[in-house]
Amino acid sequence: MSTAVTPDLNLKTPSSETVPTVTHWIGGKPVAGVSGRTSDVYNPATGQVQAKVPLANKAEMDVVVAAARAAAPGWGAQPPLRRARVLFRFRELFEQHLDEFAAIITSEHGKVLSDAKGEATRGLEVVEFATGIPHLLKGEFSEQVGTDIDSWSMRQPLGVVAGITPFNFPAMVPMWMFPVALACGNCFILKPSERDPSASLLIARLLKEAGLPDGVFSVVHGDKEAVDLILEHPGIAAVSFVGSTPIAEYVYQKGTSHGKRVQALGGAKNHMIVMPDADLDQAADALVGAAYGSAGERCMAISVAVAVTNATADALIEKLKPRIAKLQISPGTEAGAELGPLVTGIHLDKVKSYVALGKTEGAELLVDGREASLPRGEGFFLGACLFDHVKPEMRIYKEEIFGPVLGIVRANTFETAMELINDHEFGNGTSIFTRDGDTARNFAHNVQVGMVGINVPIPVPMAFHSFGGWKRSLFGDHAMHGPEGVRFYTRIKTVTARWPTGIRVGVDTSMPTLG
Ligand code: NAD
Repeated sequence: MSTAVTPDLNLKTPSSETVPTVTHWIGGKPVAGVSGRTSDVYNPATGQVQAKVPLANKAEMDVVVAAARAAAPGWGAQPPLRRARVLFRFRELFEQHLDEFAAIITSEHGKVLSDAKGEATRGLEVVEFATGIPHLLKGEFSEQVGTDIDSWSMRQPLGVVAGITPFNFPAMVPMWMFPVALACGNCFILKPSERDPSASLLIARLLKEAGLPDGVFSVVHGDKEAVDLILEHPGIAAVSFVGSTPIAEYVYQKGTSHGKRVQALGGAKNHMIVMPDADLDQAADALVGAAYGSAGERCMAISVAVAVTNATADALIEKLKPRIAKLQISPGTEAGAELGPLVTGIHLDKVKSYVALGKTEGAELLVDGREASLPRGEGFFLGACLFDHVKPEMRIYKEEIFGPVLGIVRANTFETAMELINDHEFGNGTSIFTRDGDTARNFAHNVQVGMVGINVPIPVPMAFHSFGGWKRSLFGDHAMHGPEGVRFYTRIKTVTARWPTGIRVGVDTSMPTLG
């Protein structure tokens, strides 16, 4: 395998227009799109288009899959430790380029720099997990399953797999997928969000510098057309998807109908129960971070606080208001920035329309982020919004808003609060703030949600556990990374062996049994 360090590769091609065009990454190098279709990439802090991204067509998808298929046998045959060594080198390079990753993420997504660095660092943890692949792929061995017969199982790669990712974590979500997929011996095709496509190209460049053979990791940009081509392509064995629930369900149904293994993670409406015995300062700090961090554009954001008893709700609101007032709303690159812009103007309008809807539905808008003092210019900013008296029948309660909007629901008892969560269509994350061990255990044991926090607002599992929700937050049987990731990206083979020196049984047409 080549370990040569390549020179800085130009990942954007100049175009005849005023903004550059992002490239695909195929066969170990940047490749310009040829479909003629492009989409705009904005800088959300200024509202200006800063680049174009090509949208792949069938011919481009065929080229990328062919490159991956050509590389798959060689990569799959590498000893796992050698594959791990590429990831070790990638890990070092990634860390050296952390600031560059953060700058790219902030410029295309809008989140503040410290948050962008945080997402990249969480992604890196999956690389660290995947470097342990020789251990993770160890099979099981049973001696003497019959007379002179031994049996063992092994996990083998699937071949070419693809990942389709959302805009809200342009580095971390791809990194939930490809480190484990590559470590397991697969070739990986990434179709990142067309709204913030550039982090994926820096990943591709660093993987090459780390010694990954050409064709093992590819990036192909696109929209629905590219997604459909991935789902239909006979050369792709499995698809990992993260995005909104309607698309996750579509991807799961279409991908499985084409015989693929699919894991499709969808949207969320994460509740945090605040019990009367909770440390309310701790709960309020946690809520502000979890509801408004990354402008609420996190699948594990808390968007509903369920306060148990009216007195708890009133006291919590008193603690939330001054904290919200202090949030620094500014471009993500500014020192001290806490709340950056939303990703696009269209998304900003959608979130604002939910704020208007909440008032129409009868919820009380205690803090109206539309009236906050926002940075001047065309950026897609919205201040933090806080609703009280949100009711389960309201659309602002039922639907994912994906913006800096927190709703407070008042419940009389812990049981009613948990029932609300269990009745909701989503089951991604949830948390409880309490000092009572019995209540916390009851909650963790009985709540119908995939990821649970106890006095932890955003319980994103570490890389060596697996990430995934329940109900309509995940379609398929496997969560991402950790042991589930290894299972998803491999298939099991079990061998039963006897050597000729053993006993001879002669011809026997009946089902073999131990006897
Ligand atoms: P999205 O569903 O709009 O897009 C996700 C991907 O699907 C993108 O790559 C996009 O190009 C593609 N896509 C968009 N429309 C499509 C269509 N009609 N047909 C086929 N493919 C299509 O999601 P988003 O707005 O980029 O991301 C935000 C959503 O992702 C939120 O709902 C959030 O909760 C969810 N999310 C979930 C998790 C999780 O772990 N459950 C993590 C991150 C984000």
